[in-house]
Amino acid sequence: MAVETSKDSKDSKKEAMPPGMVMGPDGKPCKICTSSATFRKWTQLAAKQEKQSSSYPAGGAGATAAAVGAAAVAATIPTPTDNEGAAWKRPDDCPPDVEQLGRATWTFLHTTAAYYPERPTPVQRSNMLSLLRSLPILYPCSWCASHLEENIKDHPPDVSGRLALSRWLCERHNDVNERLGKPRFDCAKTDERWKDGPADGSCD
Ligand SMILES: Cc1cc2nc3c(=O)[nH]c(=O)nc-3n(C[C@H](O)[C@H](O)[C@H](O)COP(=O)(O)OP(=O)(O)OC[C@H]3O[C@@H](n4cnc5c(N)ncnc54)[C@H](O)[C@@H]3O)c2cc1C
Repeated sequence: MAVETSKDSKDSKKEAMPPGMVMGPDGKPCKICTSSATFRKWTQLAAKQEKQSSSYPAGGAGATAAAVGAAAVAATIPTPTDNEGAAWKRPDDCPPDVEQLGRATWTFLHTTAAYYPERPTPVQRSNMLSLLRSLPILYPCSWCASHLEENIKDHPPDVSGRLALSRWLCERHNDVNERLGKPRFDCAKTDERWKDGPADGSCD
């Protein structure tokens, strides 16, 4: 699946997007593929553009009302240069962005792998394979899903047992880390991170 970020795009409209904005398969900004900070910048930009266009209403009561509404919204959104903008904190109960969704998904997957049986039954293997193979189809961040699909083609899931699965998953996560410019995780520490906690007992 081809996915563009605003950085890649040659289209002048898309070049007006903040860096890091990801376009979805429908060609529109993809909220769940983008960090909330980047998406907020785009929302501000769009609201500002609406506000500017509201100075020159195209005519019609509906159009004018919409423009006035957009201008009112724009006026309430702090810009990054506002003091209020600098202090703005996203409420905890907002919908997830790409980072929150990623952390929650990795937590679920690594923990599930950490508690997967040493010797899984054929049914357990089959269920685990279904879970992993469904991710590239169902994961809501479309560009994450398409990268994962390619990655899984090159590295088929190893569901033969707990350690093999944890290792496989750690490597897939490291592939994403590498692509995002993050440090690789030491896969020897997977159990410590996701099951046992550190030997000093600080997590107990
Ligand atoms: C399948 C999938 C694909 C994704 N693809 C993209 C993408 O294409 N683009 C994008 O912007 N984001 C993507 N994400 C989200 C991204 O991986 C991160 O979750 C997100 O950027 C938040 O990163 P983080 O630094 O908070 O920690 P995360 O990467 O979410 O990691 C959470 C915790 O896991 C531990 N950890 C880190 N690496 C490993 C590892 N290799 N093995 C075991 N434990 C580890 C660390 O303790 C870390 O704090 C994807 C997420 C998933 C689940």
